[in-house]
Amino acid sequence: MNRDPPSPPRGDSPVWCPPGSGELLRCPSCRLQLWEPVTVSCGHSLCTPCLGGAVPARCPLCQEKLKLLGVGGPRRNVVLCNLLEKCEDRGRRLAGLVARVRHHLTRGEAKEALGMAQKGVELAPDDISLRRCRAEAFVALGQYPEALEDLEAVCKAEPTEHEILAQEDAARPRAAHRGSSGPQAGGDSGDPASPSARAQDQEEELEASRGAVVSEHIQGTPTPGQQQEPGAEAERQHGLLAANEEGTEAAKCNQPYLGELLSISDLECSLCIRMFLEPVTTPCGHTFCKECLERCLDHRPNCPLCKQSLREYLKAGSYSCTVLLQDIMLATFPAQLAERRELHQAEMAELSNLTKNIPIFVCTMSFPGVACPLHVFEPRYRLMIRQCQEAGTRRFGMCVYETGKSFADYGCMLEIRQLELLADGRSLVDTVGGRRFRVLRRGHRDGYNTADIEYLEDKKVAGEELQELQSLHESTYELAQRFCEHGDVASRRLLMQHGPLPEKEEDIQASADGPMWCWWLISILPLDPSFQLRLFSSTSLRARLTQLQRILLALLQQPPAAHPLPEHSPRGHI
Ligand SMILES: [Zn+2]
Ligand SMILES: [Zn+2]
Ligand SMILES: [Zn+2]
Ligand SMILES: [Zn+2]
Repeated sequence: MNRDPPSPPRGDSPVWCPPGSGELLRCPSCRLQLWEPVTVSCGHSLCTPCLGGAVPARCPLCQEKLKLLGVGGPRRNVVLCNLLEKCEDRGRRLAGLVARVRHHLTRGEAKEALGMAQKGVELAPDDISLRRCRAEAFVALGQYPEALEDLEAVCKAEPTEHEILAQEDAARPRAAHRGSSGPQAGGDSGDPASPSARAQDQEEELEASRGAVVSEHIQGTPTPGQQQEPGAEAERQHGLLAANEEGTEAAKCNQPYLGELLSISDLECSLCIRMFLEPVTTPCGHTFCKECLERCLDHRPNCPLCKQSLREYLKAGSYSCTVLLQDIMLATFPAQLAERRELHQAEMAELSNLTKNIPIFVCTMSFPGVACPLHVFEPRYRLMIRQCQEAGTRRFGMCVYETGKSFADYGCMLEIRQLELLADGRSLVDTVGGRRFRVLRRGHRDGYNTADIEYLEDKKVAGEELQELQSLHESTYELAQRFCEHGDVASRRLLMQHGPLPEKEEDIQASADGPMWCWWLISILPLDPSFQLRLFSSTSLRARLTQLQRILLALLQQPPAAHPLPEHSPRGHI
């Protein structure tokens, strides 16, 4: 470890960072390549040793207050660990191969060197350093045309970088070269967390954690004792890498970019089997698309992979995006990420259509302009409300249940005014009725009902007919006022719950649904639901007013005790 005293121990060790990853894979805290990253509640990722076995009070990057949210200690991010392992594995493997080929060449074992180089080129056809090695082996065996072919490929691939490298190699003393190969970070000699020891530990850990996903949570963080003893394999690797600095450097600089080391499947959500969209990492270290995880949590507050309770996580409700994963996706598969986002936007656009396939909440009768508070706890409706919010419409259709049809032929659009999310995922949704509609076609999506609809519109009248309608409107409104003022105690108490009778409107035909006060009255009068629905579906204001007048007169003529209003609340319980 200390073959080169002037260099700091960490800088001396070969810390391999895939080119093109730049600062991406560095820990924001120690500035070294991330080791066993833990994604904290703000969405940033830090090395396990940087956390020192506990979550710091604040994130060193964004200063956000951090919480553990129901798990005993920080858990490593499984997806990020796998990505790092994959990057490091191939890089190290190729660097090792180059070193071995050179080893054979210096000993005059050209055939062995060629065999090994051949294997390497098959493994990584795009790796220039391996092509160069093979060319040297060909030369040693006198196979000049083949050597020339390889060298041409090398020059073609990256002539400029290659030339620069050659110049740099010639100009720089070896020790300085080696010193500059690692990150410039200080540290005590014999640091238990030195990168090669870490790499070894990581390998062992990952090896051990392969298999059942659940088992990885039983494993603790490696003890300092384990970390202090890098295995023989690491020593050998280290020796191989150090054996030929030039080979190692060439391998490093000519490594394929991050995108070539990873495949899309490394960045897939295990729930939707698509590329992560807004990846979020749970306190247990598992990563899913935000939307996918939320859907799971609608059903039960546990991690879909390891069953860890996510009650606290759900309660905090922040679902911070895993920043590093998002950055890696952007750096490696920008086109696919854009495609994934477009697909999502198309789905959202479909959700925001307000006549085709609109979400239908089957629960209670609701009316234009009348408040309709809802208690939402059924998973499918939780999803529905979230989708309405996300699509930006904040609207859905409300219909009553009807035997044999799943829901009635007529309904009312509801607009979400306020949403109170409860700690366990249920929500109190304050909505108000919008336009009435008629169902044209019934459908399903994500477990809830949908419908193609057409909006209802009251037939407009003019001239004499309008004058008649206006006087009918006046007299009915007066009756409504009398009813509200002179009803019995029970009905007045009920009326108080719903506030005063709404004001008259200037233009009774301004709204497609007619004056709002009519709907308010219909919503509180003790009417048979089927009769309510009949009034609701009528597009004649005249017919509606006539019916209302008839009902009000009947109610006012009855002795107070004979028409107690039913003790009902319009709050729908779903
Ligand atoms: Zn760190
Ligand atoms: Zn942060
Ligand atoms: Zn997903
Ligand atoms: Zn989990």
